Amino acid sequence: MTQEALNELKSRLATIMDLNYASSLLGWDQRTHMPPGGARGRAEQLATLQRLAHEHFTDPAIGRLLDQLAPLADDSNDTSDDACLIRVTRRDYERATKLPAEFVSAWARARTISNKVWEDARRESNFARFRPHLEEQIDFAHRAADYIGYREHPYDALLDGYEPGMTTAQVKTLFAELKDGILPLLKAIVAGGVEIDDSILHQPFDEARQEQFGVEIITKFGYDWQRGRQDRTVHPFAISFGRDDVRITTRFYPDFLNAALFGTMHEAGHAMYEQGTDPALSRTPLARGASLGVHESQSRMWENLVGRSRPFWEANYARLQALFPEQLGRVDLESFYRAINKVQPSLIRVEADELTYNLHIMLRFELETELLEGKIKPADLAEEWNARMNALLGVTPDSDANGVLQDMHWSGGMIGYFPTYTIGNVLSVQLWEAALADHPTIPEEIGRNEFGTLLGWMREHVHRHGRKFEPNRLIENATGRPLTAAPYLNYLRTKFGAIYGVQA
Ligand code: ZN
Repeated sequence: MTQEALNELKSRLATIMDLNYASSLLGWDQRTHMPPGGARGRAEQLATLQRLAHEHFTDPAIGRLLDQLAPLADDSNDTSDDACLIRVTRRDYERATKLPAEFVSAWARARTISNKVWEDARRESNFARFRPHLEEQIDFAHRAADYIGYREHPYDALLDGYEPGMTTAQVKTLFAELKDGILPLLKAIVAGGVEIDDSILHQPFDEARQEQFGVEIITKFGYDWQRGRQDRTVHPFAISFGRDDVRITTRFYPDFLNAALFGTMHEAGHAMYEQGTDPALSRTPLARGASLGVHESQSRMWENLVGRSRPFWEANYARLQALFPEQLGRVDLESFYRAINKVQPSLIRVEADELTYNLHIMLRFELETELLEGKIKPADLAEEWNARMNALLGVTPDSDANGVLQDMHWSGGMIGYFPTYTIGNVLSVQLWEAALADHPTIPEEIGRNEFGTLLGWMREHVHRHGRKFEPNRLIENATGRPLTAAPYLNYLRTKFGAIYGVQA
């Protein structure tokens, strides 16, 4: 009986995964190759597939199967694929069925309009124009939190959708500790007066050669081209249609090296995570990353801990110079290393360096939670943004476009998403240290362009498990302790202390 129910559940979930992957493929096409005229038809196709997937998943039959199979998942020490599948599906099912269908579709419609208005408002740098839609999105988020339920803070319910098991209180504690470490270091760097010249990165760089170098690098990392491909897009992303087809997209700037170079490593990091999930999890909801934060730990690790490290460039700088002899032929390795690691408080999150990036996230987290608490009103958001930006980073936006309107997340109702970026940064170092504790030769290997030990460790401790475990459990199993700020802060102090000759 139980085996029959389990087969029935898996078969239904496989159908739903196929629908989801088909949606994703249409979405990938929309953002890479679709002609502009296809937009309206594509929106309808996506809405249909997503509605079908939602209907199949919230079918009461799924609930009955989960009830029937509950005894298989009772023992939390049972980490078999089946027990984990039942636990995770139960969690997803409860979340999905708590939101009434009319609410879900009303929110989806409002998001489409809000996103369009935000694009216009950002172009005109006019926050007042976007404000009513922001108010509406906060109201939707509030109602979603009420439907889903929470113990302490409505933000808990939203955050849990992106970072299962994480609470607002935990994020507050983590961010306070990070702030206490990062601000004094940043202050010391600014006060130290060391100026790094990064103008060498802003020169004309042939796009075909940029692409060639990026392909060479991620091939060495271990990105599997038999199960992936790379295309061009405006806002880069990685996307999976199952572990055997995980694609990345890249944006090339003709006069700036960093965006495509580090963007390619970043998206390949996301993609290698999905390529590394256990084949046994295929066509189940477990065949994905554990959370957005864990996902980001993988992209950030390849981008920053490998891609912005000295050993990596000792092995690869000569090749980059050979591709760009005019631009870099007379620039020594040390100058290049310092340029790609320059710290500079700035207005735009996506252009921020490793050190100041997290301050951008903290600002958004504070504003989101206070908006939900009603402590600040949407009408005051632009002013609050500017004042707090100045207090944190010492820079004040010259326009709403470069301030409160810069990110698309809030227009899309994605409140609770931002903290996952910083969680990913913190976790990238915690995992890296655990890998190095097992294999101290990893940095030397990177200096020889060998990445197999590092990738192998991540495969074993993170990738293959897919979504079987909640992030807290995955992290404890992999590193022996819960998410901890200390390794990340030590890394920042050591790296930037050496580059800038400061101690903090
Ligand atoms: Zn990412």
